Formats: sequence, C-alpha cells, structure tokens
Amino acid sequence: MQAKIDAFMEEVRARNAHEPEFLQAVQEVAETVIPYIASNEIYNGKNILLRMVEPERAIMFRVPWVDDKGEIHVNRGYRIQMNSAIGPYKGGLRFHPSVNLSILKFLAFEQVFKNSLTTLPMGGGKGGSDFDPKGKSDDEIMRFCHSFMSELFRHIGPNTDVPAGDIGVGTREIGYLFGKYRRMKNEFTGVLTGKGITWGGSLIRPEATGYGTVYFAQNMLETKGDSFKGKIVTVSGSGNVAQYATEKAVQLGAKVITLSDSSGYIYDKDGIDKEKLAFIMELKNERRGRINEYVDKYPSAVFHKGKTPWGEKCDIALPCATQNELNGDDAKTLIANGCVCVSEGANMPSTPEAIAAFHDAKIFFAPGKASNAGGVATSGLEMTQNSLRFNWTREEVDEKLKQIMNDIHKKCVQYGTDDNGYIDYVKGANIAGFVKVADAMLAQGVV
Ligand code: NDP
Repeated sequence: MQAKIDAFMEEVRARNAHEPEFLQAVQEVAETVIPYIASNEIYNGKNILLRMVEPERAIMFRVPWVDDKGEIHVNRGYRIQMNSAIGPYKGGLRFHPSVNLSILKFLAFEQVFKNSLTTLPMGGGKGGSDFDPKGKSDDEIMRFCHSFMSELFRHIGPNTDVPAGDIGVGTREIGYLFGKYRRMKNEFTGVLTGKGITWGGSLIRPEATGYGTVYFAQNMLETKGDSFKGKIVTVSGSGNVAQYATEKAVQLGAKVITLSDSSGYIYDKDGIDKEKLAFIMELKNERRGRINEYVDKYPSAVFHKGKTPWGEKCDIALPCATQNELNGDDAKTLIANGCVCVSEGANMPSTPEAIAAFHDAKIFFAPGKASNAGGVATSGLEMTQNSLRFNWTREEVDEKLKQIMNDIHKKCVQYGTDDNGYIDYVKGANIAGFVKVADAMLAQGVV
C-alpha cells in the first residue's frame, strides 16, 4: 500500500514541485483515502484522487490600487475553483502577505472535503491576495476590495462560486466586495457569505467557526462522558475564530488562559472571562490593535513575545490562528502536560509530526476540515436563507449548526474508528468527505 501512496505522491509532486503546503495537504488525504479506494472496487482504477488534486480552474489576476498618498500599488489576486461535483464552488478569501498559489491550493483542496462533510450541496474553492490589510486606512481597504472585485466578479455567481471571508477578510471587506459586485452586475444576490445582517447576512455566521470548533470538541469529549466544565483551555489567534471559540468554551464552563497573534501570546492565569473577551473584540475588531495591549489593561497577565501558547499546561488546545503553527515538539509538550483534546479551529495548524504525536498518544484530535466546518456550514445556511428571502432566528441557526457538527462527528466515527476502538478523526473526515464527492464524480463521468 505504501508503494501506491508513494507513486501517487511522486506524480503529484512532479506537477506541483514548489507548493509545499499543497503537497502536505494532499499527502495527508492520500495516506487515508488510497487504502480506502484500494479496498472499494467502485473507486478502483478511476484515477479519482488524481482528478481531485487538479483544480477545475485556477484564476490569477492583477489588482492595482491607489493608497491615500496617491501612490499606485500592485497585488496579485487568485481564485482556485477546485471541485464543483456536488455544488457551486464555496470557500473563503484570504488577504495576507503570505498568500500564494500553494497556500490557496491547499486551502481549496481541504475545502472540498470539508464542504462535503457538512452534508450541504457545496463544492470547494478558495481565493485571496498577498495584500496586507494591516495598517491600511478604511479608504485604502475599500479601494483594494473594489479593484479585486472588478476582476473577480466575472468568475463568480450564486450558482457558480460563492466566496466568503478568511484571514484578513471580515464583514468590512465583504461589504466592500459585495457593494462592487452588486454595482457591476446590477443585481442583489447571495454571491458572497458573511454579509452584514441588514443586507443578507445570517445570524450566528460570525460565531459559527469558533462555536463549531468547540461543539466538535464537546462531541469528542462526550464519547468518554467528559465535557468542557472546569477544563483549562489554550487558544491561539485572536481573530474571528479564536474570539468565538473562546466565548463558547467559557460559556461551557472552561477557563481559557491564552490568546495570541503573530507577535506572541498572552497568558492570563485567572482566565479570559466575558468582560476581558469584550475588550479583546474591541481591540482587534474596532481598533485593530495588537494582543500585547491586553497586558496594559490586565497587568496580572503576561505577554510572551514571538512565542506560541503550546507550552502552557492545559486540558484542551484550540489552535485558531494559521497553518503549521503547532509542530511535533509542541504536540509532545502538550501531551506531557496532560492535554487530552485538540480541536483545530484554523486550517491545517498542526504539522504532520504533531498529528502523528497526537495519534500515538491516543488523545482526541480533530482536523480542521471536520472541526472548523461550522463556518462554511453556516455560510451554506446563509445561502439557503438568501434563496428563501427569509431569515432564521439566532436560536434556529445555532441549533442547525449544532446538528451539523453532530452529524460530521458521527461520520468521522463511522469511517475513522480503528479495530482497537480509537477514533482516527483524520481518517474518518478524509474518507467521509471523499465518498460523497467521488460518488458524484463517478455519476457525472469524466468531465
Ligand atoms: P482573522 O484574520 O480574523 O484572525 C487571524 C488570527 O491569526 C490573528 O490573530 C492573526 O494574528 C493570527 N495569524 C495569522 N497569520 C499568522 C501567522 N503567520 N502566525 C501567527 N499568527 C497568525 O482570521 P480567522 O480567525 O477568520 O481565521 C483563522 C484561521 O481559521 C485560518 O486558518 C482560517 O483559514 C481558519 N478558518 C476561518 C474560518 C472563518 O469562518 N473565518 C472558517 C474556517 C477556517 P495577526 O493579527 O498578528 O496577523
């Protein structure tokens, strides 16, 4: 079997030699899905996985914009339309200087499996730009978003491709993107999700990824009769996902002791309660400040410059910042300190070495494509509400989100339970996600 996986990866590597993040994401899927294909006659010999690693379309474009001083800048825009076998492409837009083809292809590839897992009819895509929103004025952000959409609009649509937010793209950016799309197309449609509540957005969408990550962890803990109550939790990041993961963990009775950004992390031994979280939200979302400012406000907390929070003793870890932020050594430290559960809010935050360590220690580990699927699932619910021209209440959306996370958990258990009873959530998510897309591809022929 290993020879088959190696031969497959050799072919993928030859075509995508300079795309390490993409190869990392494909390798993880290949290791669990290729053995499954080999033992299931209907998928054998159809080169399905090879077709799935090739984007249906990859669009790259120039994004020129003018700053407040009148200087002209040029960024690169992308949209990867990975797979639309089960529905229109769906996936976020990321604005961050690190964005390149490899990162967006890994995200788009993961998105295909994630969207399939939600049970909603959504294909997978991802896009963005190497534009850095940090330190830019509102006007600069608006001019950039308008320029970006003046090309992207011809490639998307409510039945074609429905982008959303991701790192660096929140409600403000979605607003500018939507405004430009609406003007250029002269139509008001649900072509983007994460919209403001008065113009087509869904209640609970901002909360959904973070809440879903915690709901999934709760589902895992419940398999052993455990819960969040009284647990110590470390969270990384301090953006959208981290904020709402913290909120839900605290609501469930846990104590969250860390948050971070790319400059370092804060440790608060007393826990980040509701009031402190409100400060973080105002700091990060309104003032667009840095995490170390938390320590000025709450002097009993400590700021650790340039470090990640994984050295702090905890029961549950929720990585919610970015890819490859938790390595093999971090994982070993977490395990040695008694951590029993890791639920990924970010996409691919754990390196392969970290995942191997979690599996060896037989602790609960949920890959992002399962545990952070609540965000895109609620985007799917936003699309449904847009089509119905009707809004569900906060409680109704939250209930549906919980149900979807429950269903994803069940599927992971169905496909991921090993002979010894350990649930390999990576295997479960990869195979469950694969089956639905592969069946659709088989039914539709070689297209
Ligand atoms: P935000 O832009 O709101 O926040 C990102 C956070 O991560 C910030 O605290 C940021 O710090 C930190 N961060 C970003 N890059 C790095 C880096 N290289 N090193 C250390 N910290 C970093 O993004 P989101 O919260 O929306 O997204 C976080 C993660 O969750 C991403 O992996 C995203 O793909 C994933 N995700 C998001 C979904 C959503 O609905 N928003 C859905 C599913 C997954 P700083 O401010 O210093 O850059």
